[in-house]
Amino acid sequence: MKPPIPLNLGDVLLLRKKHPCGNDLWVVTRLGADIRIRCTKCGHSVLVPRARLERMIRKVLEGTNEDRDSRTD
Ligand SMILES: [Zn+2]
Repeated sequence: MKPPIPLNLGDVLLLRKKHPCGNDLWVVTRLGADIRIRCTKCGHSVLVPRARLERMIRKVLEGTNEDRDSRTD
């Protein structure tokens, strides 16, 4: 079991899925059961259920869990 990924407002997320604009970096702009993220390139924002977002995350670039990212699976 993986622990939930700690997310904070302003965290920059590298997602597995690219936005159609070609960017894969997103900023967390709202927290909750659903999390709002905004594309850092085109400014488009989407609301994603937390469980689904966690599966989309490849890496948290700015946040409190950088140690987790350095581990290899
Ligand atoms: Zn975009």
